[in-house]
Amino acid sequence: MRIRRVEPITRYVATVSVAGITAGAWIVAHDARAEMSAATPAVAVLMLLVIVGELYPIRVPLRDDAEDVTTSTAFMFATLLLAGPALALIAQCTASVLSDIRGRKQWWKATFNVGQYALSIAGAWIAIVAIAPDLRFGNAAGFADRFSTHDFVATLAAGVVSFLLNNFFVIVALAIAQRVPVIREIRNNLGFHTATTMVLIAQGPLIALAASRSMIWVLLFVPGIYAVYRTAKISVAKEQLATHDSLTGLPNRLLFQDRLERMISEGDDDAMLVVMLVDLDGFKEVNDTLGHHIGDSLLCQVGQRLSEGLREEVSVARLGGDEFGLVATVTDRCQAAEIGQEVLAVLQQPFALQDLPFHIEASVGGALYPEHAADVDLLLQRADVAMYLAKERGTGYETYNASTDRYSPRRLALLGELRRAIEQGELVLQYQPIAEMKTGIVRKVEALVRWDHPEHGMLPPSEFIPLAEPTGLMGPLTSHVLDLAIEQARVWRDRELDITIAVNISARNLHYPVLRDDVAALLEKWSVPASSLELELTESMVMADPRRATEVLQSLNALGIETILDDFGTGYSSLAYLKRLPVSQLKIDGSFVANMATDEEDAAIVSSTIDLARSLGLTVVAEGVESETVWQQLLDFGCDYVQGYILSRPLSAENMTRWLEQRGTDREIEDDGPTAAAVLSLTSPHAQLLGSTGS
Ligand code: C2E
Ligand code: CA
Ligand code: CA
Repeated sequence: MRIRRVEPITRYVATVSVAGITAGAWIVAHDARAEMSAATPAVAVLMLLVIVGELYPIRVPLRDDAEDVTTSTAFMFATLLLAGPALALIAQCTASVLSDIRGRKQWWKATFNVGQYALSIAGAWIAIVAIAPDLRFGNAAGFADRFSTHDFVATLAAGVVSFLLNNFFVIVALAIAQRVPVIREIRNNLGFHTATTMVLIAQGPLIALAASRSMIWVLLFVPGIYAVYRTAKISVAKEQLATHDSLTGLPNRLLFQDRLERMISEGDDDAMLVVMLVDLDGFKEVNDTLGHHIGDSLLCQVGQRLSEGLREEVSVARLGGDEFGLVATVTDRCQAAEIGQEVLAVLQQPFALQDLPFHIEASVGGALYPEHAADVDLLLQRADVAMYLAKERGTGYETYNASTDRYSPRRLALLGELRRAIEQGELVLQYQPIAEMKTGIVRKVEALVRWDHPEHGMLPPSEFIPLAEPTGLMGPLTSHVLDLAIEQARVWRDRELDITIAVNISARNLHYPVLRDDVAALLEKWSVPASSLELELTESMVMADPRRATEVLQSLNALGIETILDDFGTGYSSLAYLKRLPVSQLKIDGSFVANMATDEEDAAIVSSTIDLARSLGLTVVAEGVESETVWQQLLDFGCDYVQGYILSRPLSAENMTRWLEQRGTDREIEDDGPTAAAVLSLTSPHAQLLGSTGS
């Protein structure tokens, strides 16, 4: 005969359930009749409020998510003091069962809850009987007159006992289920519970006193508690908005990173975590060919499968676009790979798009803590490397492997230094002028970030931006760049140079709910009008998550900031999107512009892009213009603005100021038929091209 090993958690739950229900049954059998006959209508109201309180818990926002606090605790305790343990027990257990049925809890969880409530109520009752045996139950009417200091101590003790027991049973269950030390679980949970539950328990005697007078007095507690309920609900909703993705309802990048950070800092020394990035292959095509809302529906379904289809310890977030993040505690590398395969498996079943089955593949990359990285930024970066490897190899899942990481140790070392560099102001901006084609007038510049590294010298953005993208650094980086650029706008305004500065925004910034507020605060800080700032978003990042991008763009437009679709031509956006997208300018990617003088195909692309943009009422900028020939071509095609080495290379703020002042922002030119040569003859840009700033 084989004996099945009984899991410790099963044994524990069974013990608490049986003990509690036995004790509860005995109390009810022994006492219910007497208590009932002595009860006043106010007791019935209290019991009812126990049930209402349990069914409509107050949600209290916590750092990570929200936790329920039930007001029933206060009413249960009042019932206990006023009527006795049997009625308190009947009310609390009924409430618990109803709430568990509504929450579709498994039967054994509901039973466990009844058991632990019964035990804690019994415990509280014993405390009262032990300290103040003559604090008599069952006589509701006389309660208030007889309540003495002695009774007060008994009440207090009962409150503490019921609180401790109640929490103890639940916390031990959690610790056993999660296989973590009980002490740690207590430390993690007790702080929050103590404060709120003790406040509620302290209300108990007050409510009991009021109830011993009249039912009406009890009802006076209701509006106050309702107000707390409403306020809590609103603040949870607000919290939810800032930390969750509105489309899928999953945690967003912000919360994901916060969670990850906490798992690392609060975990055991030998804890191992796996962080995974999940990216859908060909999601863009779905969006482009089937449309926006179908794409959204697919993302929702993917989010739901990931959050429901994986083992319980995996927590899921939507990081943006078609990218999801997972984190779980694991015992070893194999288990991480197992989870990776499970992710692929849950996504393998077809999705229903417009009632038709639809297959989509995903690439998943995993990085292990602490083996591959010791901090959140690097973990995400490495999971990203692994994910791209999985995509490239078509293997579906890859765990990070240092030997396939193309990021050199030097670049990763840079990543490690970047946060400090941002804080210490090592990032600087250079500015590149943008001229109106017809007149050559410059009223705009683009801000381009550089890292003035103490050892490596001036580093171009390509050395650190791609590295920082998958990490949490793009938020602080962009804030810093915005601060510098807007400050510069202030400086120029003070010198009577009315220059608009265009700043590049990264895809990751779209997922920081603070971008808009950041921008607004900085404009105010430097008292610079919104019209002096423009923001550039690349076409590919907008198209990766058009819905989100549209929201962010709209919020920026509402501030009065113009937005530019950058690197246009590299992101294959559909005409349908372009029409709806709230941008006012389109910047043709330099790769098409560079060769348009010699490559007919590129010239055709540029020309038709300009036509398209104009028909949509968008202003067109061409970047990467290096020659007069190209300038003339663009002028003939009807392009509005030009940026490129032909005007100037990016210059430091100081040199840019000199350049602008030398050139002036106003100039006379014949309106009819300006030519590139005429426009260019008004300045000597080639001096800039050679890097001289004139003297
Ligand atoms: P981008 O936004 O397309 O910026 C234009 C890039 O083209 C700049 O390179 C600029 O120096 C270069 N360029 C300008 N004129 C010419 C030309 O005539 N010929 C050629 N061959 N190149 C020209 P840079 O400064 O290295 O910036 C590279 C990219 O880094 C930028 O591309 C942008 O995507 C990103 N970047 C720069 N600054 C920031 C920033 O503050 N935040 C973010 N998120 N990204 C930035
Ligand atoms: Ca740009
Ligand atoms: Ca560009």
